[in-house]
Amino acid sequence: MKKPTLATIWLDGCSGCHMSFLDMDERLLEIAERADIVYSPLIDAKEYPTAVDICLVEGAVSSEDDLERIMLVRERTRTLVSFGDCAVTANVPAMRNPIGVQPLLDRAYVENVTLHPGIPLEVVPALLPMARPVHRVVEVDVFLPGCPPSADLIYQALVDLLEGRTPDTSAARFGR
Ligand code: SF4
Repeated sequence: MKKPTLATIWLDGCSGCHMSFLDMDERLLEIAERADIVYSPLIDAKEYPTAVDICLVEGAVSSEDDLERIMLVRERTRTLVSFGDCAVTANVPAMRNPIGVQPLLDRAYVENVTLHPGIPLEVVPALLPMARPVHRVVEVDVFLPGCPPSADLIYQALVDLLEGRTPDTSAARFGR
C-alpha cells in the first residue's frame, strides 16, 4: 500500500522547530516507516512535489520568497500544519512590524555597518511590509503552537495525522 507523503518547509523561522522535529530521535525511524518524507530542509529534494498529504510549515510569511513558496505549498498539499509559534502568530519575525521595512533595512545594512554599507538588492529576498502568520495568507488545517513545539507533541500530531485523525493539540503551549 502506498504510504502517505510528508513534507516540511521553513519560512521566516530560526530552525528551532525543525531541531525539535529532529529531537524525535529514534521515533523518526517510525515516522519514516509510516510516511514518505518527500520534501524538507532535512532531505535533498529540490522541488516541492505536486501532491503532498501533510506538510509542517515553520516560520512566518515575511518575504516575497516566503509568499511564493507558501502559495505553491498550499496548492499542492492536502493537510497544512502551522508548525510552531512563528507560523501560528508570526511571533519573533513580527517584532519588526512596528518598525517598518525601510528603517529596519537602514538600521541593519547601513547604520550599524562599518564595512561596505548598503542594502542588498540581489539574492536576499525582498521583505513584505509585515511578517504575517501563515493562516493570514493561506488556509491552515492544523495549528501546532510552541516555541518550539516539543518532540513529543510533534510525534503525537504526526501519528494522529498519519492515522487520519485530527491531532489533539490541547497540551501545546505558546512560548514553550
Ligand atoms: S517558533 Fe520558536 S523555535 Fe520555532 S522558528 Fe519560531 S522562534 Fe524558532
